[in-house]
Amino acid sequence: MRLVIIGGGPAGNQTATTAARLGIDVTMIERDIVGGAANLWDCIPSKAMIATGGARSYLQRMGGMGLQCLDGTLDLDALRQRISSITRRLEETNTQILTSQNVELVRGTARLDGPHEVVAVTGEGERRIHADAVLLSTGSRPRLPDWVELDGDRILTTRDAYPPPVLPEHLVIVGSGVTGVEFVHMFSSLGCQVTLVVSREQVLPSKDPEVAAVLEADFLRRGVRLVKGARAVGIERVGAGASDGAGASDGAGAGAGDGAGDGAGASDGTGAGAGVIVHCDDGRSIRGSHALLAIGSVPNSEGLGLETVGIDVDAAGHIPINHHCQTVVPHIYAAGDLSGKLPLSSVASMQGRKIAEHVVGGHSVAHRHLNYDKAASAIFTEPEIADVGMAEADAFAEGRKIRVTKVPFAASPRGLIDNDPRGFVKIISDPATGVVLGGSIVGHNAAELIAVLAVAVTAGLRVSDIVESMLVHPTLSEALAEAAE
Ligand SMILES: Cc1cc2nc3c(=O)[nH]c(=O)nc-3n(C[C@H](O)[C@H](O)[C@H](O)COP(=O)(O)OP(=O)(O)OC[C@H]3O[C@@H](n4cnc5c(N)ncnc54)[C@H](O)[C@@H]3O)c2cc1C
Repeated sequence: MRLVIIGGGPAGNQTATTAARLGIDVTMIERDIVGGAANLWDCIPSKAMIATGGARSYLQRMGGMGLQCLDGTLDLDALRQRISSITRRLEETNTQILTSQNVELVRGTARLDGPHEVVAVTGEGERRIHADAVLLSTGSRPRLPDWVELDGDRILTTRDAYPPPVLPEHLVIVGSGVTGVEFVHMFSSLGCQVTLVVSREQVLPSKDPEVAAVLEADFLRRGVRLVKGARAVGIERVGAGASDGAGASDGAGAGAGDGAGDGAGASDGTGAGAGVIVHCDDGRSIRGSHALLAIGSVPNSEGLGLETVGIDVDAAGHIPINHHCQTVVPHIYAAGDLSGKLPLSSVASMQGRKIAEHVVGGHSVAHRHLNYDKAASAIFTEPEIADVGMAEADAFAEGRKIRVTKVPFAASPRGLIDNDPRGFVKIISDPATGVVLGGSIVGHNAAELIAVLAVAVTAGLRVSDIVESMLVHPTLSEALAEAAE
């Protein structure tokens, strides 16, 4: 049995290692780096930049902890080297694991040529590989609207930002979903002035309003300007002296109704030098030194030879799959961002594990179906935001009775000790059985703390199981037990 994997991101990697452990012959074809976009462009470099920004903010908070504030001057070259060394190290580790498991690694670009044939175009030419099963895990790339021309210099995507050659004086970020707000946090904590264009009235429009409110308050405290209810429709590059004629009315527009309260005129820090103007559909325009687009991603489903096997993509370009991650051709699977389920590295990896088990044949290993509703997710802002399972809004929509309990970290000894008492823990449970249905955590290390609730939701634990766990004191996790009371 040979499994051929096209794309070596989290989905491809996890499928390869689990399948190899289960005794399947695996060939993985990757055109770029092992570890995928997750390692090269997305999860890892973004979190490495955020870690540096977080360390800088931490130094600035030291004053409140009895220490003199230390200098947080940024060395962009050192930061760039640090990010590439983390990426390289992870690629080496991933490659070692795969080769130690006898996974055959092929460097090249691959496509299907009929149901059991994969063609890999490598540096040495074309190679045809017979496949008993195939995984398509080619990931996604940033979505680019037709109203903007990127230049990789002042008009950027997330992929140009690790870090850019110079730190923007004033970065205008378009897109207020998870990626947009993480980049707001990243660049404002590195010392840039940031304006966020928010198409609705709330950042993170799909999140609990209470959670989004904590983040908005933190952004405003740091001087981030929120331009709400505005959709960007164009970005123009402007040179020295061109700003006035271009009709930029940044300060006036941005201040109105968004609570930012800066009310400033052309206070973008860019003066009349080179920069950008982001034009919005309501006539407002925002001038900055740079603009960054974070408006979602598109799947890499072109050029995969899908027509040779009769697989159609949906309107967004994703490959539809069933609960085993099979496409309409049962021995061809799709996973990760290409499959249009939750675009998370953790979900892609879990799909990979399940696919390998399914390829082996479900019976030889204990196989539980994936339940995407139970995936934990986090937003690496400051404070961090993490949630899992059912949200209050979901319960109301379903007309379901729930019990909601909430404890603020302001009451936590650890929060006070660490001089960071922001945020709260919220637990949603079934009032009749006490089973934990979901929860949200906003605060320091929320992305780590959510693990407790993720296990509870997946395992069907009750609030009493959390209450009766003897946790370490003084820690933030004690707030979980209190919220479970
Ligand atoms: C800025 C940003 C930050 C993110 N941060 C997080 C985070 O903190 N946590 C989280 O869980 N998720 C995060 N995500 C989402 C996460 O990166 C994706 O969900 C994840 O990378 C999807 O994994 P994948 O295996 O589908 O594909 P990818 O990681 O995109 O890998 C696909 C691979 O396929 C290769 N490939 C494509 N076509 C071919 C071909 N024809 N032949 C051979 N190889 C091919 C590509 O080179 C690539 O290496 C983030 C996303 C973004 C944009």
